[in-house]
Amino acid sequence: HVKKFVEKWLGGGRVVDVRGAPLTVMPRVVLHDGEGFRIGEAAGLVYPLTGEGIRPGVLSAIALAEALSTKKPLEEYRRRVAPIVKQVEFQKKLLSLAVRMSERGGALLELADDGVLRDYIEENLSARTLLALLAKKPAAAARLIAALLR
Ligand SMILES: Cc1cc2nc3c(=O)[nH]c(=O)nc-3n(C[C@H](O)[C@H](O)[C@H](O)COP(=O)(O)OP(=O)(O)OC[C@H]3O[C@@H](n4cnc5c(N)ncnc54)[C@H](O)[C@@H]3O)c2cc1C
Repeated sequence: HVKKFVEKWLGGGRVVDVRGAPLTVMPRVVLHDGEGFRIGEAAGLVYPLTGEGIRPGVLSAIALAEALSTKKPLEEYRRRVAPIVKQVEFQKKLLSLAVRMSERGGALLELADDGVLRDYIEENLSARTLLALLAKKPAAAARLIAALLR
């Protein structure tokens, strides 16, 4: 991937060293695997559009700690992390959509206002608002997708 990137975007070159750590991009959310509870990265609680996993990790740890003292810990844990799970699943859909559109080679490169996307990533915007925008304003939607790909 690094070689392809260098070729495409920098016009070629020589890669002398490659180091990295895998980023979770399309996590599968598993809160309990049949044997034990999972939190953070192990539970798949990483936001696909940003790779943010520290905050969801801490929040899920707190949620589980609190849920463990209730009568139905798994149900309570699910309820407490539901907003994070919802965000993860919706971001996965957006990312898949962005990839599909990119593969079709549409006019996705122009980006005007990416404030909407930033708000979304910061969780100030609901998924419903974002979907309404996508449905009513195709041009804005295209720009949004372009923003997703940056
Ligand atoms: C390159 C990179 C950049 C990132 N940048 C950001 C960022 O800017 N902001 C952000 O929010 N997130 C970022 N993330 C994601 C974030 O680092 C992770 O989502 C987050 O650290 C997950 O926390 P965690 O506690 O769930 O898991 P981890 O941090 O992976 O902790 C799990 C720990 O368990 C240990 N462990 C594993 N197996 C065992 C075992 N059998 N016995 C004992 N110990 C074990 C591991 O060694 C590890 O220390 C980044 C990730 C990467 C790879």
